[in-house]
Formats: sequence, structure tokens, C-alpha cells
Amino acid sequence: MAFVTRFAPSPTGPLHLGHAYSAIFAHDTARAHGGQFLLRMEDTDLDRSKPEWASSIVTDITWLGLSWDGPIHTQSRRITNYNQRLERLVDRGLLYPCACSRNDIRAALAAPQEGVAHQVYPGTCRHRPMSSRQPEDALRLDLAQAFSELDPVPLEFVETGAAHACLHQVDPVEAMAKIGDVILSRKGEDIVAYFLASTFDDADQGVTHVIRGEDLFEFTPIQVILQRLFSLPTPIYHHHRLIRDDQGKRLAKRDDARALSKFCAEGASPADIRAMVGL
Ligand code: GLU
Repeated sequence: MAFVTRFAPSPTGPLHLGHAYSAIFAHDTARAHGGQFLLRMEDTDLDRSKPEWASSIVTDITWLGLSWDGPIHTQSRRITNYNQRLERLVDRGLLYPCACSRNDIRAALAAPQEGVAHQVYPGTCRHRPMSSRQPEDALRLDLAQAFSELDPVPLEFVETGAAHACLHQVDPVEAMAKIGDVILSRKGEDIVAYFLASTFDDADQGVTHVIRGEDLFEFTPIQVILQRLFSLPTPIYHHHRLIRDDQGKRLAKRDDARALSKFCAEGASPADIRAMVGL
């Protein structure tokens, strides 16, 4: 069976030990299967993503001794493509415009953070027709409507990561209670949600195995729903453990102290990094 996986960082800060674990783990797994390891820059957050961070990611990955297959895939070059595909859901009557708080919208579109509970949207704007769409409106998925359109074949995905390993079924009632009408686009700036761009790219790049941190597990059901809506294949998922600091907190981009470049400047070798993250 083909094995294609990827490392998909958002270039919004320096790579740290947690990223190193994720990249090395995905890379080594791909190589062990005689498969491909792809590198993708998830830079749809145009405010926070910077080309300098993308360059430093390439430097860090190269320093770690990891090789990727094919060209680096950059999401910001594909925004028109994502938006064109999103319009198909407009045509199917599955989206509605929403003018609710910009801050909520920004938070919902940003790369996810562990421990930040997803706020299920109460449906305030669900009654609005697309003809009332204003330039600043976000677009939300009408999840109940989407489920009514999908065929009754169960929505399933296989998870192989130790924390949740099994065949998961996406239950519509639970999805509506826990996921709700997610934002797929912040129209004012043509920015599609992280999980939508990622869903398209995994399919377009032929990714067979998504290997990523445990903090992204909660996004998998909505990605599976989107795959079904767009008739895309569902990869196998493996959500791995997170690298934590001494207080047990997940490392974040602002934890510069754990930046790979800092370890490198202090004389650490890639083998030291592997040892530090338990690989
Ligand atoms: N871009 C996401 C992040 O940096 C990862 C997305 C994914 O691996 O699916 O958190």
C-alpha cells in the first residue's frame, strides 16, 4: 500500500522540540514504509505567517537531517483554489453568511491550541440567505443541512495513535452538539479555515497517512465531514503524543527557549534532539 505523509507547520514562529518530534516521527515512519514525506507550509493566517519563519523551518528541517519529497507546498498560493471549491458548498445551499464578532471568528480560524475549548456556534445567523452576504461576513457550514445531504453510509476514520486507536464513527448528533456550524471562510480577507485548506491539500497531495500532534485529534471529525461533502478520500490518522515542558504544558511557538535553532546554536546535534524527544 502507498504511504504518503506530511509535516505541515504554520510558519508563525520558530520550530521547537514538539515540532521536531512530529517531523522526525512522520519522516522516519514514511521512510520505514518506503513511502513519501511531504513538507507543507500552512500559511493561510496571513497576519501571523511570515516568509522568514518559513525559511527558518526549512533550515531547521534540513539541519535535522530530514529530506522531503517534491516541492514544498505553500497554502497561501492556493487561496483562490480553496475559495473556488468552497463556492460549490454555496451552490449546494450548505453555507450561510455570519456577522457575529470578529474576534470569535479570528479565534476560530487560527491554528488550534490545546486546551482552548471549541465554542459551538449558537446559530444566530443561520436564517440568513447567501443573498444577504456582506464583504465582511464569514461563511459558516450549516451542519444539520450538510448531514441531511450526506448519504447514510457511516462517516468513519481509522486512528492508529495510542491515545485513541480504533475505528471512529462520526455521530451526527454528537457532531452537531460538539462541532456545530463551523466557520469555513472569513470572507473579508478570503481566508479559509485551517482545517478546510488542510483537508483539500491532504487529498490533492495524495496523503494516505496524516501524522500529527494529539492536540489536533478534535479536528478530525470535521475534516472527515468535509471529505465526504467534497467526495475526497479519508486518510488514516495517527495523532502522536505531545512534547511538554517541565510543568507538563504543551510547548508553544512562543516558548523560544525550546526553539531548535537555539539548541543548534548551543552545539546540540540532531542526534541530541532525537534523544531529547525520546526518539
Ligand atoms: N498547521 C497545523 C499546525 O501547525 C498542523 C496541521 C496538520 O498537521 O494537520 O498546528
